[in-house]
Amino acid sequence: MTDVRLQNLTKKFGEVIAVDAIDLTINSGELVVLVGPSGCGKTTSLRMIAGLEEVTSGQILIGERDVARVHAKDRNVAMVFQSYALYPHMSVAQNLGFALKLRKMPRDEIDRRVQKVATTLGIAEVLPRKPKTLSGGQQQRVALGRAIMRDPAVFLFDEPLSNLDAKLRTAMRAELIRLHHRLEATMIYVTHDQVEAMTMGDRIVVMNEGEIQQSGTPLEVYDDPDNAFVAGFIGSPAMNLFDGRVTSGNGALSVAVDGLAISLPASHPAGRAGSVQLGIRPEFLELDPPEGWATIDGRLEVVEHLGAETIVSLFTSGPEVTARIKRNDALRHGTTIRIGADPAYVLAFDSASGDRLRA
Ligand code: ATP
Repeated sequence: MTDVRLQNLTKKFGEVIAVDAIDLTINSGELVVLVGPSGCGKTTSLRMIAGLEEVTSGQILIGERDVARVHAKDRNVAMVFQSYALYPHMSVAQNLGFALKLRKMPRDEIDRRVQKVATTLGIAEVLPRKPKTLSGGQQQRVALGRAIMRDPAVFLFDEPLSNLDAKLRTAMRAELIRLHHRLEATMIYVTHDQVEAMTMGDRIVVMNEGEIQQSGTPLEVYDDPDNAFVAGFIGSPAMNLFDGRVTSGNGALSVAVDGLAISLPASHPAGRAGSVQLGIRPEFLELDPPEGWATIDGRLEVVEHLGAETIVSLFTSGPEVTARIKRNDALRHGTTIRIGADPAYVLAFDSASGDRLRA
């Protein structure tokens, strides 16, 4: 069991700062997901931990050892890539056993371990076959098995499931979580897919433009985003974010968002700035809102009847608004409705910095 600590870790490619002085501790046995949009620096961070990318400055501690300048093969980490990178001329069994063969482990012991790992991953029956005869899911299992065989201190995953179709991806996600629990291993997982991050991570680390925006359990980050970037990135359908000007009067606040006015109680954190971004998650908007809620009137533009719930897009006198409401078979395109949210669930962010305004 090993923890990983990144201290002031920086990577520059010429003028481009890919990773900007990040500090992060991944606890022993934890599965931490680095998530963010393309180009945010997550892959570069992972590759620095793996030893595949040189560090510009800063430290990478695996356990007590600073490995920032240690060769990749001496770091005791195993990386699983999006492309499976299997040896095409070797059988599955040889692919799995290769690292141990290099370590000159006795043949019997290698065979025993190959069998055990293959059984765990459900690929025992394909051991004699070559990788190209396997399905994508089977190839990814072999790649995973190869990492497990090395018994590393830390597993690193770089978008390992993105080549699989949606159904297989969901199944493999569940398998990886089970594997994580069984191995109790330290794992760092990179993805751009926020759903994957939410479902897999003990903790997620949201990155943007080379910086860590927020780190926390998936629900902490979802419920309590530190800034507008995190609020908009995590959650699907995405949080409604409206730019507005705040005025106060008559014991209440009014936020003007284009032609729309949203009322909030005087005590709402939006009152702490003149210019704000309001954030309302689609599921906190309800039909027939009670007195005192922040209400929005509009015309139904798109109505998606999904069975368990209904997702609507509303054209208002200001921005378009998305709401995720209880199943409602009667809603039709073109109808005018009123929706609203409890002000306690209306978040506010400073327009200039994007930082969350808290009570
Ligand atoms: P993606 O999901 O698209 O892989 P990412 O979040 O993993 O994105 P990185 O691949 O880490 O992002 O890239 C971070 C930044 O560093 C980007 O601006 C990218 O263009 C730049 N970058 C990455 N590798 C190199 C390189 N070898 N040379 C120059 N710039 C690079």
